[in-house]
Parts: sequence; structure tokens; C-alpha cells
Amino acid sequence: MRRRICTALLALGLLALAGCQKAPEPVEFTTFAMDTVMNFTLYGEKKQAVDTVKPLLAGGVSALEKILSATEEGSDIARLNRRGTGGVGAETAEVLAKALELCEATGGALDITAYPAVKAWGFTQEEHRVPSPAELEALAEKIDYAAVKLEGGAVSLPEGVEMDLGAVAKGWAGDLLAEAVRANGISSALLDLGQSTITAVGAKPDGSPWRVGVVDPARPGACFAVVELEDMAMGTSGGYQRYFEQDGEIYWHILDPDTAAPARSGLASVTVASPSAFLCDGLSTALFVMGLEDGAQFWRDHPELDFEVVFVTEDGEIYRTAGLEGRFSLAEGYEDREVVVLE
Ligand code: AMP
Ligand code: MG
Repeated sequence: MRRRICTALLALGLLALAGCQKAPEPVEFTTFAMDTVMNFTLYGEKKQAVDTVKPLLAGGVSALEKILSATEEGSDIARLNRRGTGGVGAETAEVLAKALELCEATGGALDITAYPAVKAWGFTQEEHRVPSPAELEALAEKIDYAAVKLEGGAVSLPEGVEMDLGAVAKGWAGDLLAEAVRANGISSALLDLGQSTITAVGAKPDGSPWRVGVVDPARPGACFAVVELEDMAMGTSGGYQRYFEQDGEIYWHILDPDTAAPARSGLASVTVASPSAFLCDGLSTALFVMGLEDGAQFWRDHPELDFEVVFVTEDGEIYRTAGLEGRFSLAEGYEDREVVVLE
């Protein structure tokens, strides 16, 4: 919610800067899906295009949730988790194939079979608990995306393996919604899918890029930086987004597939910008698990994935990749912070 306000304030600030030039009126609306509030801002000269797209956006996200959510009882994923085998629709098969590809590319830092561990920590029902070391060891053994067999629309999972697309579903939705917006002739929109997945369609109506805030993980009510986006998406994964505290220790929802426990890589948040929202979502989770050094190396090794990153360490150090030059700036109140540029 705070993040949304952050984005809205930045957008408003820019509108004010546009000065006397009369900007078209935005159509803004909100929907609740995927466990979060989503906020859409559309600019269209043709009211009809906006009217057509509005129900598509809200309906599109909830339709996706109905097939992809592990906690939605009738979804393809929930059914597979229950039965271990079965057929899925073309869309689920496509998301699964893309997600498994990214699990592979990230060397298993992203692993869609972390679900039994996610449940054991109580993150699905928000009934949190700390599993014992023996339990974690057993859970970690079962996390293995390579064990998922996907052939056409037929999927099978070994005993005890369950899937969860929580790390990529919002990104997938972001790309689909952006496509629907463009297909209806709207060339300027900001689709905020909540919990830090945002897709910018085109630029602002005045031609300047959208300016989106990056949340300060140490003070989630504030943004420490602004990234300019034009036909780009951005996604953030951070320990501050979902966590619980027990006996003075903080446990967050991003798990290290090797240990089945919260990933403690020294990072507080990872923000990824890319033309693909799916990549932003999946890679922000994966790079959070990898940590700064391995994450930066992954960025160097994969120019073909076309993404840029902002890392914030638990000590509050800020690192950004060189490709964000000219598109990244520190926010008001953070101007004196050092930013290390990764080459
Ligand atoms: P995100 O908020 O996009 O970083 O995704 C985190 C969500 O994905 C968690 O709430 C879990 O449901 C799931 N998850 C946690 N750790 C991982 C992981 N290493 N790989 C894939 N999914 C994960
Ligand atoms: Mg993610």
C-alpha cells in the first residue's frame, strides 16, 4: 500500500511539473487479486478503448489467479499438488514451461517446488512457525524443480513435491495486462500489480518516462530511489514485504531452496527492471537468494536476458548495474547516499 502511495506521489509530482500543458485525464481504478491491491492508471484519447480495457484488466488477473494460485482450491496448480499428475490448460503449461526455464537459468535459486517449505513456515495461511532443523533438511531434499515433468499439457510431480508460482505469477500477469492495454490502442499506462511489480506501457502522455519509486527496505514507507521506465517493467523482492518475528529473529518469505529456510544472502531487497515483467518478478526473487556477488555475476553472464538491477544490502549499501545510467536517481532525502555502479 505504502509503495503504491509512493508511486502515486511521484506520478503526481511529474504531472505538476508538466505545468500549463493540458494533460489528458487519467482513468484510475483498483482491483484486489493475488492477495494484493492492484492499481491501474490508463491514459486514452478514446474513452471507448479505456472502457473496453478496464474489465479486461480486473478480469484477466482474477482469471489467471484461478488457474495459477497454489492456494486457490480449483486451480491447475492446486490440483496437480493434490494429485501429483494431470493435464493442464495451454496457459498454465506455458507459464510452467517459462518458470522452469528460469529455474534452470538461475541454477535453482528460483525453484517453483519450494511450496512445501513455504507452507511449513506458515506463509500460505499466515500461521507462522519455525520448522525444526530436521524438518528443514527433509523439506530441502524435496525441493527440485528438475523433478517436474512437463510434456505438452501433461504434468507429473514425484511424491512430496508441490509447486507454487508465487514468485513469478504477478510478473506474468503484468506482461499479459500490458499486452491487452496495447492491443486496445492505449499507448500510455502504468499497471501497478502491488507488492512491487509494476509495468509501464509507453511513456507518460507528455512523452516523459514514468518515474517509479524503489522502496527503502529499512523504511518501507519511503522510496530511496527513482527509476525511469518507458515500455519497461520493474519488480522488487525484499525481506520487508512478508515476514514474521519470533524470539527476536526475523524470518521472511523468500526461501533458499538449498536449506528450505529464509534466504540470508546479506541482501535486504533486489529490484529488477526489464521489458519483461515476468523476468523482473522471477529474477528479483532469484537474485535475492543468490546475494550481491553471485547476483551481479549472473547479470554479467546473461546480457541476453536484458535486465538491470538495484541491490540493497542489509547494511544499507546501494548497488546498481551500469545499464541504469541516466534512468536511476536517488530520491529526495537520500541524495548523499553512495551508489556503487556494477560493471
Ligand atoms: P517474490 O515475492 O516474487 O519474491 O516471491 C516470493 C514468493 O515465492 C514466496 O511468497 C513463496 O510463495 C515463493 N518462493 C519463496 N522462495 C522461493 C524461491 N527461492 N523460488 C521460487 N519461489 C519462492
Ligand atoms: Mg518474484
